Amino acid sequence: MTEKRTLSIIVPLLNEAESLRELHGKIQQALQEVAEPPLGEVEIIFVDDGSTDGSFEVLQELRASDARVKIVQFRRNFGKSAALAEGFRRARGDYVITMDADLQDDPFEIKNLIQALEQGGFDLVSGWKKKRRDPFIKRFTSKIFNAVTSFLTGVHLHDMNCGLKIYRREVVKSVQVYGQRHRFIPVLAAEEGFRVGEIAVQHHARKYGQTKFGPSRFLSGLLDLISLLFLSRYVKRPLHLFGGIGLLSFLVGSGINIYLAYERLVLHKYLTNRPLLFLGILLVIVGIQLFSLGLLGEMITESRAESLHYSIRNEIGFEDAA
Ligand code: UDP
Ligand code: MG
Repeated sequence: MTEKRTLSIIVPLLNEAESLRELHGKIQQALQEVAEPPLGEVEIIFVDDGSTDGSFEVLQELRASDARVKIVQFRRNFGKSAALAEGFRRARGDYVITMDADLQDDPFEIKNLIQALEQGGFDLVSGWKKKRRDPFIKRFTSKIFNAVTSFLTGVHLHDMNCGLKIYRREVVKSVQVYGQRHRFIPVLAAEEGFRVGEIAVQHHARKYGQTKFGPSRFLSGLLDLISLLFLSRYVKRPLHLFGGIGLLSFLVGSGINIYLAYERLVLHKYLTNRPLLFLGILLVIVGIQLFSLGLLGEMITESRAESLHYSIRNEIGFEDAA
């Protein structure tokens, strides 16, 4: 028989004291349901992202009754991405499951997630809140966000940012989650060549407290998408982005200027009162700027080429391979 699979559950939380006991109870029950084949060692890592409502005390209480509970407490609030990254760094399980602390994600999906990961041959399976219990505005903007992300990145999930996900250990040790990038983890994983899938999961309305993300979530989501697209597509060849746009701008600007020069020199039309002249000059300057920016980017890429890494599935026959 093969080794038993070990599991890490990671729960990032900010001021969720009211939910934690109930959540822990449900996780305990849900773990008992994963009977066949049985799990090996389980750890439940709570990452307290700077709570000020006594969440930490509740966690200590849970730890006293259940030795599988582990706690990391941030000195202040660093954000959900940071909390997940810290959990990922410490996770020891073969499989890693993340879930929100507010009881919106259902621990009883644990066994379905494990099943989907194993039977689907995936490295990451994301939950899909098919029947979502959130305010209309959030469901609506999230639909748009998911459609745009799926279109631009080619990673076709209904629900990128579901808190409930399962990963193989290699995935969490390899993706870089910072800023607000937890919204795009499936994209980061797919980028590295991991196989990404999804299953529909139960979702509940928030029972206690309120959402920890204000309206700024929409703006930061957008900016992170742009940063992600740039980093994934062009970081290894910045000139292809900046050089392309720069060249186009330069050529259009030059065309305009040549046309104006022809009018001035051959047709003897004066250039005063010709707004087009400004556009021509602007496009030429902007074009040169963008092109130089691309070249600068190339220089940066060149100088760090040695530290670029590629995600490796297997390595065979290398003596000193780790
Ligand atoms: N969270 C966190 N740090 C933050 C914001 C949120 O650890 O800075 C946690 C929060 O406690 C919850 C999860 O991330 O466990 C999802 O947050 P929330 O339920 O507020 O998000 P929503 O459901 O509104 O998307
Ligand atoms: Mg929530």
